[in-house]
Amino acid sequence: MTTRMNRLAAQKLVESQRAYFASGVTKTYAWRRQQLGALERLLTERSADIEAALRADLHKHPTESQITEIGFVLAELRLIRRKLKRWMRGTRARVPLALLPASARTVPQPLGVVLVIGPWNYPIQLILAPLVGALAAGNTAVIKPSELAPASSAILAELIPAYLDPQAVAVAEGNADVAGWLLDQKWDHIFYTGGSRVATIVAEKAARHLTPTTLELGGKSPVFVDGTGNMRSVARRIVWAKFINAGQTCVAPDYVLVTPDAQDRLQTALVAAIRELYGDDPQQSADYGRLISTDHFLRLTSMLRLGTVVSGGRKEVGSRYLEPTILADVLPTSSVMTEEIFGPVLPVVSVPDADAAIAFINERDKPLALYVMSARRSVRRSFLQRTSSGALDMNVGVAHMSVPGIPFGGVGASGMGAYHGRRSFYTFSHERAVFSKPLSPDTLRLIYPPYTAKKSRFATTLLRRLS
Ligand code: NAD
Repeated sequence: MTTRMNRLAAQKLVESQRAYFASGVTKTYAWRRQQLGALERLLTERSADIEAALRADLHKHPTESQITEIGFVLAELRLIRRKLKRWMRGTRARVPLALLPASARTVPQPLGVVLVIGPWNYPIQLILAPLVGALAAGNTAVIKPSELAPASSAILAELIPAYLDPQAVAVAEGNADVAGWLLDQKWDHIFYTGGSRVATIVAEKAARHLTPTTLELGGKSPVFVDGTGNMRSVARRIVWAKFINAGQTCVAPDYVLVTPDAQDRLQTALVAAIRELYGDDPQQSADYGRLISTDHFLRLTSMLRLGTVVSGGRKEVGSRYLEPTILADVLPTSSVMTEEIFGPVLPVVSVPDADAAIAFINERDKPLALYVMSARRSVRRSFLQRTSSGALDMNVGVAHMSVPGIPFGGVGASGMGAYHGRRSFYTFSHERAVFSKPLSPDTLRLIYPPYTAKKSRFATTLLRRLS
């Protein structure tokens, strides 16, 4: 169902989904599997329309759309469909001897009616990947795509009702007002991806109903380079991770910390890698994206004044084009080093060594991702042991997102909660504890009052030993 939203419509939508959830339809394995299959068909049958929408919103190349949006969700879907039956069974737990005979297990249950709010940068993936988790776990869902990626929002609004159970999944298109009306309702879970300013609003509104939230946020993800290893390959990996989607990726390398001896070599290699991936004039490259809005263009181009442009910097406001840009000589206090950049500007900052890089990172908010490029195991281990971040990638950037076996999410300012693969299923499930004991023999009598000396002895010695 696609809904024209206002406050009353938001209320009615949640009421109707709640009634549908109460009917029990969405809890069955058959329904969940069928919905996941339908979503898979949506993505394969209408893949060209989705690619066109992403091209219109962000100038994404169809191959990039396949890798980072359509194919990404398909991989999640296939994994979850394969494992769903097993996950739905839950797990058994060991019962302490003192409580035997008995059995203990966890049974995952759907949470109920969930709200998914998405951003504009991966407007398909970041709505549909959480939706996969919500449906796999047996919930109903209202999804609110970003109004800043209008073509992607429109294609979701067209396709979702055509493929998925319209009583269980609704698309609410619109701006912050629409999000606000939705957030005023009582949900069983809110899954929000976006910036921290709006996340505060989401968390405040959720708190009124004590609704649990997953907050997938952003921040500044650093890269450390110490000059060991193959610099060409280091530079290529940084350039790919940074400039994919024109830098508008939550886990894009935000800035590079490099040791002084390696800075010139790195900068030269970065410039060469940009040319290798996007040609002499990236504006002519079919593979290079565009910024989402004029406001975003103006914010990013104003950052170019905050350092020395090593390469790039060419721009065109009409097409929202900003060339992949390397910036040196930036002050740690300038906005390019205090705000999330979220675009194709890469500051390179010199630090004396790995210890100084770790100190620099630890003085700031915990990042969503941290990248260490070093051939030295001891350096990589230092980052593992002495820093905290949503994810840590060694000698690669961004790619951890595509490993469904590891959770994706932030820590501290970069978010709370996680998803992908198995974790998506559990994010949208309540793991209910189920404990069962036969009525006889009534061994629990041994711990009921009155507390005789014999029972006290039992509690202090035997029970401790048996637990
Ligand atoms: P945003 O916070 O501006 O918008 C996200 C969603 O919130 C949109 O659907 C929007 O309509 C809604 N919204 C906007 N104002 C609102 C309000 N006042 N009340 C309620 N809802 C409101 O984020 P964005 O600009 O679309 O995305 C950029 C941010 O998202 C960056 O910080 C980026 O790092 C982060 N991000 C994080 C991840 C992740 O997985 N962790 C992924 C992509 C983007």
